[in-house]
Amino acid sequence: MNKADFPFFQDQDIIYLDNAATTQKPQVVLDAMNEYYTQYCSNTHRGSHDLGNKATQEYEDTRKCVAEFIGAQPHELIFTKGTTESINLLASSYVKDNFNTVILSELEHHSNILPWQLHELYLEVIPVDKDLNIDLDGFEKLVRKHPNSFVALTHISNAFGIVNPVKEIISLSHKYGCKVLIDGAQALAHVPIDVKELNADFYAVSAHKAYGPTGIGALYGKYELLEKMSPYQGGGSMIDDVSFEYSTFLDPPFRFEAGTQAIAEAIGFKAALLYLKGLTSLKEHNRTLLTYAKKRLLERNDVELYTQAKNVCGNISFNIKDIHHDDIGILLSKQNIMLRTGHHCALPIMKKLAIDGTVRLSFAHYNSLDEIDKTMTALDKAVGMLR
Ligand code: PMP
Repeated sequence: MNKADFPFFQDQDIIYLDNAATTQKPQVVLDAMNEYYTQYCSNTHRGSHDLGNKATQEYEDTRKCVAEFIGAQPHELIFTKGTTESINLLASSYVKDNFNTVILSELEHHSNILPWQLHELYLEVIPVDKDLNIDLDGFEKLVRKHPNSFVALTHISNAFGIVNPVKEIISLSHKYGCKVLIDGAQALAHVPIDVKELNADFYAVSAHKAYGPTGIGALYGKYELLEKMSPYQGGGSMIDDVSFEYSTFLDPPFRFEAGTQAIAEAIGFKAALLYLKGLTSLKEHNRTLLTYAKKRLLERNDVELYTQAKNVCGNISFNIKDIHHDDIGILLSKQNIMLRTGHHCALPIMKKLAIDGTVRLSFAHYNSLDEIDKTMTALDKAVGMLR
């Protein structure tokens, strides 16, 4: 499906199943970035020459495009390097001064754990059940015990593909006076996002997980909350006035964008979202791949899966009994199949499951059932060599 759109696949026979780490980039994204560098490379929001104005317009058009894609308004959207920076920004500019406790789930990526720890915030953990689903009753007990806390939760688990009931979590959180951040790193490419419908206070995304470039992402925040937040970094462009005695800052979102931004990457981000919008049957294709991969894995009698949940999306994690996941990864790589093995930056859930990692197949729209078949044949070969 649509592999021809991706230069990466043109001259190499690779099965790429590491899309939860980063996706490949279509030609339209590379062209948009190349056009910026070759035709109107200039800095944004500075000076008044024509090229600078064009770069600023393209950059701000991206803000509109990303905002619209997730149901937000442009002035509610801060450009960051990605989800990790979005969460660090929030921890530093808002959460550390307004909350004592952050409530998160056992499924979180390290980037939704460490920023809170670095500010010495107290962490409370929402338990998950045997299928790795959040226990909503357990969650309500936690927020009742810790009202007015900050809740930070992944929309889709990068390690096990669990889609969390974020709408219910947000509504329960608000009932107890909490504010909520949703980590949408894995969601952007896979499920429709509407921050208004979800009533999320904050929502973070990375472009590179959704066919866009690395180095750019966004943090959505309700404007009345962004207005109360202090800058994350100081530098050019984010100021209203500067003197040696004092400085004042621009309104959000510009207050949070100090220094020269990732302009080419922002322009690539817009091209990626337009590309993503043009893809049809994404959801169905995703489901077909996931269901088929699970079925093929279950045909083996040596596979350990860690969830039977139905609400999964984008990836499937497993181990082969008595074989280390890294050995499988290495032998599949030798057969031109690229996938990730290890803890997937989610050590707490690995520890809970008493494993040190998994083999993870993570999908994009360019993957096919035939590729899953080839992966299963390659897996057979790898396991045969390792036993
Ligand atoms: N959260 C989740 C669920 C992720 O999968 C990732 C990336 N693996 C991140 C956060 C961090 O994203 P980034 O590296 O783009 O900042």
